[in-house]
Amino acid sequence: MLDAPFHTGKVRRLYHWPDDRILMVATDAISAYDHVLATPIPDKGAVLTQLSLWWFDQLADLIPNHVVSTDVPEEVAGRAIIVERLDMVPVECVARGYLTGSGWVEYQASRSVCGVDLPEGLADGSKLPEPIFTPAIKAPMGEHDENVDFATIANLHGEELATRLRDATLEIYVRAAGLAAARGIILADTKFEFGLRADGTLVLADEVLTPDSSRFWDASAWQPGSSLPSFDKQYVRDWLAHDSGWDKASDTPPPPLPDAVVAATRDRYLEAFRRLTGRDFAA
Ligand code: ATP
Ligand code: MG
Repeated sequence: MLDAPFHTGKVRRLYHWPDDRILMVATDAISAYDHVLATPIPDKGAVLTQLSLWWFDQLADLIPNHVVSTDVPEEVAGRAIIVERLDMVPVECVARGYLTGSGWVEYQASRSVCGVDLPEGLADGSKLPEPIFTPAIKAPMGEHDENVDFATIANLHGEELATRLRDATLEIYVRAAGLAAARGIILADTKFEFGLRADGTLVLADEVLTPDSSRFWDASAWQPGSSLPSFDKQYVRDWLAHDSGWDKASDTPPPPLPDAVVAATRDRYLEAFRRLTGRDFAA
């Protein structure tokens, strides 16, 4: 039996591990609109863990990552990784190649996202002229992360580290978007978290390029201005916002997910895994 976790996030639990390592366990919980939903998605934790591991491999020549081993206790087999304990940089490093979500909301108000000016005439789902770095500052649990501009990150963490974060984020995005495109998937946007080793090395940490941290669209159906078929949590967000009868502005927690919504969500996560890695997920 594992001891109590030292950190309980919305989705993951962190446990102390010998040799200054961390056991990072992904649960089947799903969060949306900053709430953890009452209904888990079966196998989601394992799918996300295996997909992150696949991506860490694809990116290994670009940037070091925190993975130490997948030799984990039987009770969390498949959904846990032993990782290096890093000094995490508290910045959500978002790269966007397409305009949607909070970026689209900001663009309509200011024609910019996180201080990056954009051309006129873009629609929800438009491809951007080039990928942009749109950082956010992690909010305490239950609050929204705050989109900020590059200068804010530079003020908080220094110009040098801010530049490394931006350059690494964009470089990884471009590599990943290319790999996804070859598999018929548009990587619309994604979020990375980085940590520092004691010697100052910047290391890719947390989960990477999963349906929880990214927007994956079906390239064959992409059309700006329309609702896009996606292999991520957008399906659950849409169900909550439009079909569940829940008022997301209210204080009430979201309703449980019906079985059909759970199954459709699980299918999307499995489809993302299958399309990207080229193999079926084996539980
Ligand atoms: P949220 O639910 O908003 O994502 P959270 O980020 O605190 O909250 P999880 O994502 O569930 O929760 O948990 C993962 C946590 O582990 C994050 O705080 C992340 O920054 C941290 N983390 C990831 N990799 C490492 C690492 N190598 N060393 C130390 N902390 C890490
Ligand atoms: Mg997190």
